[in-house]
Amino acid sequence: MSICYEFSHVVEDTPEGQVVLLSGCLTEHSDLTVISNLVDGKVVLDIAGIRRVNSCGVRSWVAFVRGLVEAGHEIELRRCAPCMVRQMNMVANFASGARVLSVLAPYYCDTCGNEKEVLIELTDGKRPQVAARVPCSRCGQEMEFDDLIETYFDFLDYVQPAEERSTRGGSGT
Ligand SMILES: [Zn+2]
Repeated sequence: MSICYEFSHVVEDTPEGQVVLLSGCLTEHSDLTVISNLVDGKVVLDIAGIRRVNSCGVRSWVAFVRGLVEAGHEIELRRCAPCMVRQMNMVANFASGARVLSVLAPYYCDTCGNEKEVLIELTDGKRPQVAARVPCSRCGQEMEFDDLIETYFDFLDYVQPAEERSTRGGSGT
């Protein structure tokens, strides 16, 4: 894959705290340290716009999130793009102490080629109910979940999903 979208970030101050919108391709050229210097207190990282991440990008990301958590920031990941969810499923420390609020589920229509991403809110670290098929908004046929639906939420087994995780004891697995 040779297409690479420029990595960019936008910091917004909202009533719920700072929201950092990240988009583009996360690679060795993506400067995350500049973001670390902009944020203060609780930070929501909205990563819906990340289109691709390579191995250098993964290393930068893990160091970035870990650095923020160690600096005392409360970090939440929102609207995680499918490429980031796949990394969370492969790299155990990918979320590095951040809470995952929601992810995007990818769907693809075989009939017309339509693609869409559906927002899935996560609560209490439970596996969400996700439809294997949804109606295509373009042609009316069925769109299929464009990944392995059985394993797409495996990251919930080891990321910190909710505040009460530490007080719930060993109820996992
Ligand atoms: Zn369609």
